[in-house]
Amino acid sequence: MTAAFAPNSVHARDIAFLVHHQTDIAGYRETGGTLMARGEGVYVYDEAGKKYLEAMAGLWCASLGFSERRLAEVAYRQMLELPYYHHFFAKGNIPSVDLAERLVQLAPVPMSKVLFSCSGSEANDAAIKLVWYYHNAIGKPQKKKIIGRVRGYHGNTVAAVSLSGQPQMHSDFDVPLPQFRHTDNPHYYRFHEDGETEEQFATRMANNLEQLILREGPDTVAAFFGEPVQGAGGAITPPATYWEKIQAVLRKYDILLIADEVICGFGRTGNVWGCQTYGIEPDMLSCAKALSASYQPISALLVNEKIYQAMLGESKKIGSFAHGFTYAAHPVACAVAVETLKIYEERDIFTHVRRVSPVMQEGLKATEDHPMVGNARGVGLIAGVELMADKRTRTPFPAEAKAGALVERKCLEAGLVVRAIGDRIAFTPPLIMTEENLQEMCALFRKGLDAAWAELK
Ligand code: PLP
Repeated sequence: MTAAFAPNSVHARDIAFLVHHQTDIAGYRETGGTLMARGEGVYVYDEAGKKYLEAMAGLWCASLGFSERRLAEVAYRQMLELPYYHHFFAKGNIPSVDLAERLVQLAPVPMSKVLFSCSGSEANDAAIKLVWYYHNAIGKPQKKKIIGRVRGYHGNTVAAVSLSGQPQMHSDFDVPLPQFRHTDNPHYYRFHEDGETEEQFATRMANNLEQLILREGPDTVAAFFGEPVQGAGGAITPPATYWEKIQAVLRKYDILLIADEVICGFGRTGNVWGCQTYGIEPDMLSCAKALSASYQPISALLVNEKIYQAMLGESKKIGSFAHGFTYAAHPVACAVAVETLKIYEERDIFTHVRRVSPVMQEGLKATEDHPMVGNARGVGLIAGVELMADKRTRTPFPAEAKAGALVERKCLEAGLVVRAIGDRIAFTPPLIMTEENLQEMCALFRKGLDAAWAELK
C-alpha cells in the first residue's frame, strides 16, 4: 500500500524510485516525506512552496544557511579552472594545499598533516585505519581495540558505524566489527543518580572507562573516539570535568584520542573547535559538515606528528601510503571550503555565535515550564531538549507514545525543522541565525510542543 499522491507527482516518483536513509521504509511508502525545493538564508521551502525555519541546518551542517552566493560562485570558477584532479600517485591540486595549510593553522593543538575525504564517515574510517597502522608501525600490533560511546555517532561505513554506539544501526547489518567496544553515554540529566553532582557523575564515567580498559587488557586497547558534544546521541553536552577525567585515563594507559569534530568543528560550540571549549587534546581530529558549510561534500582528518612519522615509516617499508578515494581532495570542494573559512573569519562568525547563542539557550531553557519538557541544555548553537512524561521523577514517555516524533511533526506543521532523537529534540541552527531568527525558532518550538501536548495529554 503506497500513499495516494497524484501519478507522476514528485512525491509519487520519489516513493517509486528512491530509498531514503535513516527512514522507516514502510512508513515512508504510506506517508511520503517533505521534499525541499529551495533555500533562502535560514529558511527552506518545500516543493509546494511552504516555508520552514531550519533549526537543524539540514544535518547539523549548513552553517551559512542556504543561499550563500560566494560559495556558489567560487565553485563555478573552480569548475572552469580545474573541475577535477585527484591525490593519487604523487599528483594533487592547488586548492587542497591552501585548505590543508589553513586547517593546520586553525588546529586546536599542534597537528602535522591533513588527509581529505568526502564525508565524516570516511574521515573517521581513515582515522580507524590509521590507529591500526600506527600501532603496527610502532611494534605494538596487539594494541587494536577501539572504544566509542553508547549513543556516540561517527558515521556509517562498516568501521565508523561499528565505532558508533547506535544499536539500531547495527541490527542485521552484521556490525559492529569485533575490535570495537562502547563505554557509557555521559548524559547527566538522564543517567545521574539522585544527589549525584555533575563532577561525581563525570568521575563515575571515567572510572567505568578505566574498568573497561582493565577488563579488556590495556595492552590491547588502542584508541578512544569521542565527539566533544554528542550530536546524533541527542545533542548531549558533557558534564563538568568529564573530558579532563577521561583524558587522564587515556594518558595513563597510552591510548590515542581522536576528536570527532564533524558537528562541533567551525564554531558550533562558540569556538572554532569543541576541543577548545572542553580542553580536549587529540592525536587526530576529524571534521566535515561546516568545513564547507556543506555546499560541497568534503571532510578532513588532521593527524599529529607522532602519527605522521609512523605513516612515513610504513610508507617507506611498504612502498606507498596505500589509502585514498577518487574524489578525496576534490578541487571544487576544497575551493569552497577555503572560501567558507574566509567567510567565517571576515564576518567573525564564531564571535557572532557566542553573542547570539544565549537567545537560543535561554529561550529553550524557558520551555522547561512546559508540561512535556524535563530539561533543556546546550552550548553555543547546539542544544537538546528532553521530553519527560513526569519531570519530577524523571519518568520518560512510554516508547509507544512516540512523543519525540510527534513533537517533530507538529513543529514541521508549524514551519520549523527540528530533529527528534528518541524523545530528545535537537537544535543546531545555521550559525548565521540572528537573535530574531532564534526568537522565532523558540516561539515556533513552543507552538509545536503545545500542539503535541494537546494530542498526548
Ligand atoms: N561524526 C559525527 C559526529 C556526525 O554527526 C556524523 C554525521 O552526522 C558523522 C561523523 C558522519 O558524517 P557523514 O554523514 O558525512 O559521513
